[in-house]
Amino acid sequence: MKITYRIDAQDRLTELSGDWDQFAQANGAPELAAAALRGKPLPALVSGTEMQSLTAMLLKRAREAGAVEVPFRCDAPDERRFLTMELRRDAEDGVAIETRLVRAEPRPPVALLDARLPRTDELLVICSWCKCVRLPTQEWVEVEAAVEALGLFQEAQLPQLSHGICPPCRARFFGAPTTRPAV
Ligand SMILES: [Zn+2]
Repeated sequence: MKITYRIDAQDRLTELSGDWDQFAQANGAPELAAAALRGKPLPALVSGTEMQSLTAMLLKRAREAGAVEVPFRCDAPDERRFLTMELRRDAEDGVAIETRLVRAEPRPPVALLDARLPRTDELLVICSWCKCVRLPTQEWVEVEAAVEALGLFQEAQLPQLSHGICPPCRARFFGAPTTRPAV
């Protein structure tokens, strides 16, 4: 799977190609189909102000350094997906972005990640970048471990997922010290 897109100097999406629509469908987000996004500002694609500032920072870095590559996760309920995103400076201060699937590991479906299931009013923070979940202890763990720790086995108990960024990912992007190895 590979998705490529390009943004212009004003960060508007100008070209989307590759398996984009398939990717949007697979992630339960058909509203993100390519045709609906053309001309929209890139922040339309990312959820949460923190992710938006992170995206802005990566674009700035790509425009200054020429290219930057970052790993990230984009899991499906039944699959851990490890991806990489490469941002390259393009003509007229645009940036070409290529997202590739590096590997996928099947797993028993995790209901917590199934966007079609109903949710309670509870909020659970998930890292937009590595898909780790924050426990009440402030520890960030893989989603399966969070389900185990929080006893989220019954569909009626599923909390809403709120997107944030965990300390190791923040450190990786913003350069703060970290004690955990990079994902
Ligand atoms: Zn993270």
